[in-house]
Amino acid sequence: MDKTIIIVTGAPGSGKGYFAERLMNTIPGIFNLSQTDITSVSTGDLIRREIKSESALGHKIKNITEAGELVSDEIIAALLKENLAYNPSKITILDGYPRTSGQVRDLVQIIGNLPVYVIHRDTPPELVLKRVKNRRVCAKCGKVQTADHADCISCHGKLVVRKDDAVIEKRLELYTKETVPALELLRMAYPHRCFIINGAEEAQDSVLHLLNGPLSEIF
Ligand SMILES: [Zn+2]
Repeated sequence: MDKTIIIVTGAPGSGKGYFAERLMNTIPGIFNLSQTDITSVSTGDLIRREIKSESALGHKIKNITEAGELVSDEIIAALLKENLAYNPSKITILDGYPRTSGQVRDLVQIIGNLPVYVIHRDTPPELVLKRVKNRRVCAKCGKVQTADHADCISCHGKLVVRKDDAVIEKRLELYTKETVPALELLRMAYPHRCFIINGAEEAQDSVLHLLNGPLSEIF
C-alpha cells in the first residue's frame, strides 16, 4: 500500500499542532491501525533527529543552528525525503511544513504520486491573539495551560509565556506575507483533497468529522 501524506496547515497559534496530535491519536482506532502505522513529522523534529544521529549532515546542521542561522530549504527537503523513504509508517502527518512557496515546490516534487490530503485549520486572527495571549507554559514540567491559574495545575511550577508566543504579532505578519501565498500554491497542487476546518471548533470534533467524512476513503 502507498504511504498517505496528511498536511496540516494554519496560522501560528491556530492550534494546528494540537490538531495534528489529535489526528495522530484518533486515526489508529478508526482505521484499525497500530500507533506505529502513523507518524507525525515537523521540521523541528527532523532537524533534532538528524543532529542526534551524529551523521555528517547532522554535524553540519548543528553548526548552522548554533550560529543562529536558519537551516536551508534544501537541507529540510533532503531530511524529509529520507524520512518518507525509510519511515515504515502508512500515514505521515506533516505539521508546520511547508511554510514558503519554495518549500511547497520541494514538497510536491518529494511526494510525487503519493496520495495527499491538505487540512487547513482556519482560525480568525482575533481568536489566535486571544488564545496566545492567554497561553502559559509551566517552566518546570512544560505543560501548556492558560493564564487563569496562579501556578502549574500539575506540579505548581511557575507559569511563563512561551518564547514563540511573546512574538506572536511578528509571526502572524510573516505568516501573512510568506505562508498564505505558499498555501495558495499548495491548494492549487492538490485541489481535490484540500479541506478547511473551522479553528473555533473543538479539535477532536473536527478530527472525527474529517475521519468519518472525506478522509474515510484513505482505507
Ligand atoms: Zn508543571
